[in-house]
Amino acid sequence: MIRTRFAPSPTGFLHIGGARTALFSWAFARRHGGSFILRIEDTDLARSTPEAVQAILDGMNWLGLSHDEGPFYQTQRMARYQVVIDEMLAAGTAYHCYMPPEELDRLREEQRAQGLKARYDGTWRPEPGKVLPTPPAGVSPAVRFRNPSDGVVAWDDLVKGRIEIANAELDDLVIARADGTPTYNFCVVVDDFDMGITQVIRGDDHVNNTPRQINILQALGVQVPQYAHLSMILGDDGQKLSKRHGAVSVMQYDEEGYLPEAVLNYLARLGWSHGDEEIFSMAQFCEWFDLDHITPSAAQFNTEKLNWLNAHYLKRAEAQRLAALVLPRLQARGVTVSATPSLPAVITLYQERVANLNELADAAAVFYIDITPKSELLVKHLTPEALPALADFVAGLPNIAWEPAAIGALIKHSVAAHGLKMPKLAMPLRVLLTGQEQTPSVDALVALFPREEVLKRLAAAG
Ligand code: GLU
Repeated sequence: MIRTRFAPSPTGFLHIGGARTALFSWAFARRHGGSFILRIEDTDLARSTPEAVQAILDGMNWLGLSHDEGPFYQTQRMARYQVVIDEMLAAGTAYHCYMPPEELDRLREEQRAQGLKARYDGTWRPEPGKVLPTPPAGVSPAVRFRNPSDGVVAWDDLVKGRIEIANAELDDLVIARADGTPTYNFCVVVDDFDMGITQVIRGDDHVNNTPRQINILQALGVQVPQYAHLSMILGDDGQKLSKRHGAVSVMQYDEEGYLPEAVLNYLARLGWSHGDEEIFSMAQFCEWFDLDHITPSAAQFNTEKLNWLNAHYLKRAEAQRLAALVLPRLQARGVTVSATPSLPAVITLYQERVANLNELADAAAVFYIDITPKSELLVKHLTPEALPALADFVAGLPNIAWEPAAIGALIKHSVAAHGLKMPKLAMPLRVLLTGQEQTPSVDALVALFPREEVLKRLAAAG
């Protein structure tokens, strides 16, 4: 039974890198009929906030990455961590360390001054035949993991291949501070074990933690999961994404008018591929997804490609659904949407022509507000030769059926009567009705408005 997890620290929003990690973990579980677990790693009380927890849940929800278990909060599991610490102390795989922090700092400074790697000197580490110092009175000890002192710790990373680290490189990690609080790497280990995680899929910024985590799991005598460390995501400019550089919240994509399925499809291809497939549903992705086709090299963000996917999904989306997404955007612009023209009808006309929901809202807005076309557009298109054809068209409007074919016939008739070509009338109509030179088919455009509204807008031509 496959069990994966996404384990964000709630210190900020869900950004694009986290979302991709979540997507891959989710898809791997879905592919194998397993479970996807959401775990909030909130032990860093100073940096974790309830707002950030909410932002992560919102982001996951917007993307539709549903979890089967959780969210589990590490802060609610403190008693469990304490049990494991006590067990390790009893088993001798962890020990009390009474070295005061100041002394540890001094030790590290000395080591650095000598050009050595700063590390704990093992004063309180039990060894066969070693006599430990007497614990100082009134000092609470930290708890350190008794890391194996020789040999290597190794794993076959599902993305990066075999990784081996000499144990001599690893310090005896503090697993509980003197105040009793467990430390980050230790909580992850206990959680991954308790939650039965079979594949740890996470960002490769955690690759240095893995040997420590494996050693603790081995000391506990439990099964070690498989690890897949995903390479980082670079920005459009090839620079590493960071909080200061381009690592925007997933919800910002919502604000910018992207559809979640476009973002998901885009993220799925960020470091993973299935032949040449570029456009696919999440159902398809969950059938295809494997860890063998993840590229170990960094993936570069490409906004143009995301925009292309977004336009693709906008074209195909149900107009009713888009209307529901566009309505709040119109309201935010102060636009009151009336029953006529119907918003889904407006959207049907424009959804193939826009790159995002905000452009769609901008296009739709002109149907519901009074517009004032720019005077240069009026001068350009309301030429002396066009005006008589326009007058004929206006005169004919009250007497025709209100549908595109009849409107089209009236346009043709009005231009023909004056020996003009279609655009001579189509352009003034576009400009007077929408303020824009580019619109969908002018017959369909006119037909969308109520007849009186067309007469009112055309009357502005004087
Ligand atoms: N909490 C860690 C983070 O947000 C992830 C830990 C893990 O996946 O093991 O970066």
